[in-house]
Formats: sequence, structure tokens, C-alpha cells
Amino acid sequence: MIKVAVNGYGTIGKRVADAVSVQKDMEIIGVSKTRPSAEALVAVQRGYPVYIADMSKKGSFEKAGIPVAGSVEDMLKKADIVVDGTPGGVGAANKALYEKAGVKAIWQGGEDHEVAGFSFNAHANYKDAIGRQFVRVVSCNTTGLCRVIKAMDDAFGVNKVRAVMVRRGADPHVVKKGPIDAIVLDPPTIPSHHGPDVNTVLPHIDIVTLAMIVPATQMHMHAITIELKKEAGRDDVLAVMKGHNRIGLVKPETSIRSSAELKEYVMDLGRPRADLWENGIFEASVNLVGKELFLFQAIHQEADVVVENIDAIRAMMGEVSDPETSIRMTNEAMQFTAL
Ligand code: NAD
Repeated sequence: MIKVAVNGYGTIGKRVADAVSVQKDMEIIGVSKTRPSAEALVAVQRGYPVYIADMSKKGSFEKAGIPVAGSVEDMLKKADIVVDGTPGGVGAANKALYEKAGVKAIWQGGEDHEVAGFSFNAHANYKDAIGRQFVRVVSCNTTGLCRVIKAMDDAFGVNKVRAVMVRRGADPHVVKKGPIDAIVLDPPTIPSHHGPDVNTVLPHIDIVTLAMIVPATQMHMHAITIELKKEAGRDDVLAVMKGHNRIGLVKPETSIRSSAELKEYVMDLGRPRADLWENGIFEASVNLVGKELFLFQAIHQEADVVVENIDAIRAMMGEVSDPETSIRMTNEAMQFTAL
């Protein structure tokens, strides 16, 4: 069993912990919190040992009924690998801790590529992550872009990608962030950081991205144009998407045409936390004009990177060398079949 620690049990960390705990080849040896909170109480209920970043807060955890298993350093001693789920920027500061403990570490997309020197997407570069000590799983938006671009590139070749990201303002539980009534250019300059971030995984892709933030919490929406190298019909493109285990098609028969309805659908399907782990490509939007492919895709920011973290763990530990095998193991353990 691969012993996994989660440092930073927040939006991403708690989902990664649950995903690890159902894998046959992995176990959670601990999660960390900075303060007693609802999430920490849930960690206790799920049987995850809780470690804390600042031992001077031990009393406040114990007062809240949360047994403290030790410090983050203690947790790292027990782990083969740590998934850093701390807020963007904090993760980089933890690197010295991981180096000192001699533990493998995965960072999230809020950190720069340089923190690990290698950015990961399971379908794109799993094999290059095998045996590495440090890996960064790219952000939710970059993950969604990489999946569809890589699939189209493998099938038809990609000349160039132009994409607009309409980003959610904050995660649903985040009460202190906006905008409440504005469309914010993110940033006003072009390109946004997403295109260059895709290039950390797929360096040969010609991509320009633009981004805006809107008053929504449930998902991001991407409007994407991909110029293909080869002629392809709409059915050819849809067949590639249907055959992909992390691309889902939102069928026209559902009448869904918004992120909110898609989230409700996924909730009704019984997915844990109503998580959409796959890209939600709106089938009706998939259209070709000559060699230009157009589509809309919904990206659930809290969820799509979770399965990628699991594959990154497997690649770095080196037990499974075939990407498709790992992806299948991850999906099956989570009872995840793409829409
Ligand atoms: P979050 O704020 O929900 O959770 C962060 C957790 O880390 C909190 O529980 C916090 O208490 C804990 N923490 C803070 N400082 C710590 C420290 N020094 N040691 C241990 N724990 C500490 O953040 P999040 O949204 O889960 O984001 C985590 C990372 O994932 C960021 O890099 C972010 O950019 C990336 N990411 C977030 C999303 C998203 O939409 N939420 C999507 C993809 C990637």
C-alpha cells in the first residue's frame, strides 16, 4: 500500500483524501489542518488521523473534540508521498519540509511550474512522471484544456487553439470573495496564464487563452476553438470524445444548458459531493467549420484535478507504468464512468 499524507485538508485536499482511501493500492496515513473546523471534524469521522501545522494550537483542537496525532513533520515521517493541498503560494513554502523529510510531494495548480519542475496531466505525460520526487498537478482549467486538446491532437493533429475561459468567482463555500455584480477581466491583458500553463504539459501546442471571472460558484465554462490538422467529421470528433474516460458528453436530450443544471444532474446521479471529475462537453456545441472545431465545456473546479492527483501518486511511486491502467484503476475505485 502506498502511504499518502494530505497536507492542507481543504477543498482539494479533502477530495483527494477520499479518493485515495478507496484505491486498492493506497491508504491515507494522515491529513493536516491549521484550525479546528467542520472539515477537521469530518476528517475525524472518516477515521483520518489529524495532524496540525502549528503545535501551539493543539489545545484548541482537543477542546473541539479533535484528537491530534502530531505535527505535520510527524505526519511526513510516516508517508511515502504527500499531496500538498494548501492555498496557492503556501505550498511552495512547504518544499523545504518535504526535502528535509525525503518524501515525494505533489503540488496543485496554485503553485508555479518551477516548484516541482514538472507539470502533470495523466493522459498527456504520465510516463514522464514515473519515479519523480516532485510533481505539480496543473489547475482545474488547465487540466480541462489539456484533456480535450491532447485527445484531439492524438486523433487529428492540432494546428492551434484559441479559448475563452469564463471562470467562477469563488468556490461555493467561500463567503469572502466576489465579484457579486461584475464581469472581471482576468487579466485585461491577453493571453491569460492558462495557455502558457497548458504549454508546461503540451509544449508544442499553439494556444492563446482569454479569461473572465463572473458572479458564479459552481463551475467554469470554456468556449474553445481548435484548428485541426486533418479533415474530420463531427461524428469522428464525437467518437473520440465518447471513447475518452475523462471526457463526458452532456447530451442534448438532458436539455442542460448551464453549469447549474449540470451540477444538479451530477448530484442526482449520486456522485459524492456532486463532483464532475470529467470535462463536461456540451454535445450540441460540438461543431466543425472546415477544420475548425468549436465547443463549450464545463469544468468543475473542485473536482477534475482530484483523479489526476491519484494518477500522479501512482506514476511517482513507479508501480504502474501504463497510464491507461492507472486511469482505469483510479476511475473504477471511485465508481466513475464519464457521462
Ligand atoms: P482551500 O483554502 O480550500 O484549502 C486549503 C487548506 O490548507 C485549508 O484547509 C487550510 O486550513 C490549509 N492550510 C493553510 N495553510 C496551511 C499550512 N501551512 N499547513 C497545512 N495546511 C494549511 O484551498 P483549495 O481551494 O483546496 O486550493 C488548494 C490548492 O489547489 C491551491 O494551489 C489551488 O490553487 C489549487 N486548486 C484549487 C481549485 C479550486 O477550485 N478550489 C482547483 C484546482 C486547484
